[in-house]
Amino acid sequence: MEKKQIINFGAGPAKLPQSVLFQAQKELLDYNGSGISVLEMSHRSSDFTKIMNTTENLLRELLSIPDNYKVMFLQGGGTGQFSAVPLNLIGLKEDRCADYLVTGTWSSNAAKEAEKYGKVNVVHPKLDTYTKIPDPSSWSLTPGSSYVYYCCNETVHGVEYNFIPETHGAVLVSDMSSNFLSRPVDVSKFGLIFAGAQKNVGCAGVTVVIVREDLIGHTLTECPVVLNYQVQTQNNSLYNTPACFSIYIMSLVLEWIKNNGGVDAMETLNKKKSSMIYDIINSSNHFYTCPVDVACRSRMNVPFRVGKKHGDETLEKEFLDGASKLGMISLKGHRSVGGVRLCIDLSLFAHGVCVSPYRSVGGVRASLYNAVTVEDAQVLANYMKEFLKEHQ
Ligand SMILES: *Cc1c(COP(=O)(O)O)cnc(C)c1O
Repeated sequence: MEKKQIINFGAGPAKLPQSVLFQAQKELLDYNGSGISVLEMSHRSSDFTKIMNTTENLLRELLSIPDNYKVMFLQGGGTGQFSAVPLNLIGLKEDRCADYLVTGTWSSNAAKEAEKYGKVNVVHPKLDTYTKIPDPSSWSLTPGSSYVYYCCNETVHGVEYNFIPETHGAVLVSDMSSNFLSRPVDVSKFGLIFAGAQKNVGCAGVTVVIVREDLIGHTLTECPVVLNYQVQTQNNSLYNTPACFSIYIMSLVLEWIKNNGGVDAMETLNKKKSSMIYDIINSSNHFYTCPVDVACRSRMNVPFRVGKKHGDETLEKEFLDGASKLGMISLKGHRSVGGVRLCIDLSLFAHGVCVSPYRSVGGVRASLYNAVTVEDAQVLANYMKEFLKEHQ
C-alpha cells in the first residue's frame, strides 16, 4: 500500500528512511526464509546472532570504532544511561564525583540523576537560558573527578557542540542521542558515548553504548544488573532478552547510511538542510527568530519563533495549522522553549512559588535527522518563505 504523503519533522521517535520501512514490511512475516518474524525469533538463534553481529560491525565501520572499545545494545533509553553512566563510572576514582556541563534539558536531567550516586559539579556558571554553550575559558574542571559529561546535541533547545570539550586527560562522556551518525566523530577522544536509537538510527527500545574497555569494572554494587556494563559486555548485550526488533531496525538504518555514503555524506546533507532553514530565519528581518547563539545552532533540531517581538502565539498556531494542511507534521516546539522559564526549578512550582512551568509557549521546532531529505527541508523552506510574504 502506498503511504500517505506526510513529512515528519518530529523530534523523536522520528522519521525513518522509506526504504527501511519497506524492507521491514517485506521481511515482517518471514525473515530471510526462516518462516518466522524477527518479532518471534529467539535472541539466541543463529539468525538473530547474525543480526546482532551485522549491527555491531556496521557501527564499527561507520564510526571507525577502535578495537579497545566495546559496543552494547541496551534497553532503558537515553534516560536509562543517565543512571547507568554514574552507576558504572563514578566509582572510577575514590572521590566519587563527576563534572557536568549543563546546557539544556537533557544534560540537566542527567546531572540530577547522577546526584543520587555521587557528587556532581557543574563546571561553568549556571545558565539563565539554554541558548548557548558557556565559553570553555569559564569552565573549571574538578581534579579527581571520575568523568566529564556533556550532551552533544540538546534536542529540546537546539544547542549543539561543534567541538569536543577539552578535558585535559579526564574521561569524557557524551550523550549523542539526537546527533549520532549525523556527522563523523573521533571515538578515541571519548571514554563513553551513548545514543538512544529513536532520533537518528532507528526506533525506540534500544540504546547504543560505546565504552572504552579499561573503564569497565568499577560498577557500584547497587547497579541493576541490566545496566551493568561489565555484565552486558561479557554477554554481548544478551545477558537478558534485548530489544530484538529495534536492533534489527537499527541494522537496516545503518545499512542505509552506509549505502548512502556514510557519516560524511550525512554531514554534508545535514549542513545543507539546516542551512536552508537558518538562512530563511536570518534573512526574515526578525519575523522568524531563533534564540540560540549562532555558534552552537543545531543541525538536527531547529527551534524558532514566528512573529515579530520573539513570537506571536496566534501566528504560530496559524503557521503550524497551515504546515499540517500541507502534510508537514510534528513541527510544534517543545513546551519549554520560549526562553524565559527554562531554568525555573520544579521544586519552586511544587512549593507554589511560581506559576505552572508547563505553560505552552513552544514556538516551532523542525527536526532534520538523517532520514529527513533535502526535498523535505525544501518543502518547509518554501512554506516559510510564503508564510513570511503573506504576513510581514
Ligand atoms: C530523547 C533524548 C533523551 C531521552 O531518551 P529516552 O530514550 O526517551 O530516554 C536523552 N538525551 C537526548 C539528547 C535526547 O534527545
